[in-house]
Amino acid sequence: MLTEQGFGTFMRALGFAAEKHQHQRRKGSTQLPYVNHLIHVADLLWRVGEVRDAPTLVAALLHDTLEDTETTAGELEALFGAQVLAIVQEVTDDKTLPKATRKQLQIEHAPHLSNAARLIKLADKIDNVYDVSHDPPEGWSHERMVAYLDWAEAVVAGLRGVNAALETHFDAVLDEAR
Ligand code: ZN
Repeated sequence: MLTEQGFGTFMRALGFAAEKHQHQRRKGSTQLPYVNHLIHVADLLWRVGEVRDAPTLVAALLHDTLEDTETTAGELEALFGAQVLAIVQEVTDDKTLPKATRKQLQIEHAPHLSNAARLIKLADKIDNVYDVSHDPPEGWSHERMVAYLDWAEAVVAGLRGVNAALETHFDAVLDEAR
Protein backbone atom coordinates (compact mmCIF):
# COMPACT_ATOMS: atom_id res chain seq x y z
CA MET A 1 0.00 0.00 0.00
CA LEU A 2 1.04 3.56 -0.58
CA THR A 3 0.96 5.05 2.91
CA GLU A 4 1.18 8.71 3.87
CA GLN A 5 4.91 8.19 4.37
CA GLY A 6 5.12 6.45 0.99
CA PHE A 7 3.47 9.40 -0.71
CA GLY A 8 5.95 11.75 0.99
CA THR A 9 8.85 9.69 -0.36
CA PHE A 10 7.20 9.61 -3.80
CA MET A 11 7.02 13.40 -3.93
CA ARG A 12 10.61 13.69 -2.70
CA ALA A 13 11.69 11.33 -5.50
CA LEU A 14 9.77 13.41 -8.06
CA GLY A 15 11.57 16.57 -6.95
CA PHE A 16 14.92 14.79 -6.92
CA ALA A 17 14.43 13.36 -10.42
CA ALA A 18 13.17 16.68 -11.84
CA GLU A 19 16.33 18.36 -10.57
CA LYS A 20 18.70 15.64 -11.78
CA HIS A 21 17.16 15.60 -15.28
CA GLN A 22 16.57 19.37 -15.43
CA HIS A 23 18.77 19.97 -18.48
CA GLN A 24 17.45 16.98 -20.44
CA ARG A 25 14.62 16.83 -22.95
CA ARG A 26 12.86 13.92 -24.62
CA LYS A 27 14.06 13.06 -28.11
CA GLY A 28 10.77 13.90 -29.85
CA SER A 29 10.30 17.03 -31.92
CA THR A 30 8.25 18.65 -29.13
CA GLN A 31 11.27 18.32 -26.81
CA LEU A 32 9.23 17.59 -23.69
CA PRO A 33 11.11 18.05 -20.42
CA TYR A 34 12.60 14.67 -19.44
CA VAL A 35 10.68 14.62 -16.15
CA ASN A 36 7.43 14.20 -18.10
CA HIS A 37 8.63 10.72 -19.12
CA LEU A 38 9.18 9.80 -15.45
CA ILE A 39 5.71 11.07 -14.53
CA HIS A 40 4.20 9.03 -17.40
CA VAL A 41 5.96 5.85 -16.26
CA ALA A 42 4.80 6.26 -12.64
CA ASP A 43 1.28 7.18 -13.81
CA LEU A 44 1.05 4.10 -16.06
CA LEU A 45 2.01 1.89 -13.12
CA TRP A 46 -0.52 3.57 -10.83
CA ARG A 47 -3.46 4.01 -13.23
CA VAL A 48 -3.15 1.15 -15.74
CA GLY A 49 -1.20 -1.41 -13.72
CA GLU A 50 -2.88 -0.49 -10.40
CA VAL A 51 0.52 -0.82 -8.74
CA ARG A 52 0.40 0.43 -5.14
CA ASP A 53 3.81 -0.71 -3.90
CA ALA A 54 5.71 2.38 -2.73
CA PRO A 55 9.30 1.23 -3.55
CA THR A 56 8.20 0.34 -7.11
CA LEU A 57 6.50 3.71 -7.65
CA VAL A 58 9.44 5.61 -6.16
CA ALA A 59 11.94 3.62 -8.27
CA ALA A 60 9.82 4.38 -11.36
CA LEU A 61 10.50 8.10 -10.89
CA LEU A 62 14.21 7.43 -10.38
CA HIS A 63 14.64 4.72 -13.05
CA ASP A 64 16.83 6.78 -15.40
CA THR A 65 18.88 8.70 -12.80
CA LEU A 66 21.85 6.30 -12.65
CA GLU A 67 21.92 5.78 -16.42
CA ASP A 68 21.41 9.33 -17.62
CA THR A 69 22.52 11.72 -14.85
CA GLU A 70 25.42 12.17 -12.44
CA THR A 71 23.43 10.54 -9.62
CA THR A 72 25.41 7.94 -7.66
CA ALA A 73 24.25 4.69 -6.10
CA GLY A 74 25.30 6.04 -2.69
CA GLU A 75 23.07 9.07 -3.11
CA LEU A 76 20.02 6.94 -3.98
CA GLU A 77 20.67 4.57 -1.10
CA ALA A 78 21.07 7.39 1.43
CA LEU A 79 17.94 9.21 0.28
CA PHE A 80 15.59 6.38 -0.75
CA GLY A 81 17.01 3.18 0.79
CA ALA A 82 18.62 -0.04 -0.39
CA GLN A 83 15.42 -1.54 -1.81
CA VAL A 84 14.74 1.38 -4.18
CA LEU A 85 18.42 1.49 -5.16
CA ALA A 86 18.37 -2.24 -6.04
CA ILE A 87 15.33 -1.79 -8.32
CA VAL A 88 16.89 1.21 -10.09
CA GLN A 89 20.15 -0.71 -10.58
CA GLU A 90 18.23 -3.58 -12.16
CA VAL A 91 16.79 -1.31 -14.84
CA THR A 92 20.07 0.53 -15.49
CA ASP A 93 22.12 -0.35 -18.59
CA ASP A 94 25.90 -0.69 -18.30
CA LYS A 95 26.96 2.38 -20.27
CA THR A 96 30.53 1.13 -20.67
CA LEU A 97 29.15 -1.38 -23.21
CA PRO A 98 28.41 -0.51 -26.85
CA LYS A 99 24.79 0.44 -27.57
CA ALA A 100 24.03 -2.69 -29.63
CA THR A 101 25.28 -4.93 -26.80
CA ARG A 102 23.20 -3.02 -24.25
CA LYS A 103 20.10 -3.45 -26.37
CA GLN A 104 20.73 -7.18 -26.77
CA LEU A 105 21.33 -7.55 -23.02
CA GLN A 106 17.98 -5.89 -22.26
CA ILE A 107 16.30 -8.70 -24.21
CA GLU A 108 18.35 -11.39 -22.47
CA HIS A 109 18.02 -9.97 -18.94
CA ALA A 110 14.26 -9.23 -19.06
CA PRO A 111 13.04 -12.69 -17.89
CA HIS A 112 15.43 -12.65 -14.94
CA LEU A 113 14.42 -9.31 -13.43
CA SER A 114 12.46 -8.90 -10.19
CA ASN A 115 8.73 -8.16 -10.47
CA ALA A 116 9.29 -4.51 -9.55
CA ALA A 117 11.92 -4.08 -12.27
CA ARG A 118 9.72 -5.84 -14.84
CA LEU A 119 6.79 -3.53 -14.05
CA ILE A 120 8.95 -0.43 -14.50
CA LYS A 121 10.45 -1.71 -17.76
CA LEU A 122 6.98 -2.48 -19.10
CA ALA A 123 5.74 1.04 -18.33
CA ASP A 124 9.00 2.50 -19.70
CA LYS A 125 8.58 0.65 -23.00
CA ILE A 126 4.91 1.70 -23.23
CA ASP A 127 5.86 5.37 -22.90
CA ASN A 128 8.83 5.09 -25.26
CA VAL A 129 6.81 3.30 -27.97
CA TYR A 130 4.00 5.85 -27.57
CA ASP A 131 6.48 8.70 -27.99
CA VAL A 132 8.22 7.15 -30.99
CA SER A 133 4.90 6.88 -32.83
CA HIS A 134 3.27 10.14 -31.68
CA ASP A 135 6.28 12.41 -31.48
CA PRO A 136 9.14 10.72 -33.37
CA PRO A 137 12.72 11.88 -32.82
CA GLU A 138 13.79 14.21 -35.59
CA GLY A 139 15.59 12.47 -38.43
CA TRP A 140 14.39 8.95 -37.63
CA SER A 141 13.65 6.98 -40.80
CA HIS A 142 10.71 4.59 -41.08
CA GLU A 143 13.20 1.67 -40.89
CA ARG A 144 14.70 2.98 -37.69
CA MET A 145 11.26 3.30 -36.14
CA VAL A 146 10.31 -0.24 -37.16
CA ALA A 147 13.60 -1.58 -35.76
CA TYR A 148 12.90 0.22 -32.49
CA LEU A 149 9.39 -1.23 -32.23
CA ASP A 150 10.71 -4.75 -32.98
CA TRP A 151 13.32 -4.38 -30.26
CA ALA A 152 10.82 -3.07 -27.68
CA GLU A 153 8.50 -6.00 -28.49
CA ALA A 154 11.38 -8.45 -27.94
CA VAL A 155 12.23 -6.93 -24.54
CA VAL A 156 8.57 -6.97 -23.45
CA ALA A 157 8.27 -10.65 -24.50
CA GLY A 158 10.67 -11.42 -21.64
CA LEU A 159 8.74 -9.28 -19.15
CA ARG A 160 5.32 -10.90 -19.60
CA GLY A 161 3.42 -12.61 -16.81
CA VAL A 162 3.79 -9.83 -14.27
CA ASN A 163 0.85 -7.49 -14.98
CA ALA A 164 -1.85 -8.33 -17.55
CA ALA A 165 -3.25 -4.78 -17.74
CA LEU A 166 0.14 -3.25 -18.55
CA GLU A 167 0.93 -6.01 -21.06
CA THR A 168 -2.40 -5.49 -22.86
CA HIS A 169 -1.79 -1.74 -22.85
CA PHE A 170 1.66 -2.27 -24.39
CA ASP A 171 0.11 -4.42 -27.13
CA ALA A 172 -2.44 -1.70 -27.93
CA VAL A 173 0.20 1.06 -28.03
CA LEU A 174 2.45 -1.12 -30.21
CA ASP A 175 -0.43 -2.00 -32.58
CA GLU A 176 -1.25 1.65 -32.97
CA ALA A 177 2.40 2.47 -33.63
CA ARG A 178 2.76 -0.14 -36.40
ZN1 ZN B 1 12.92 5.60 -19.11
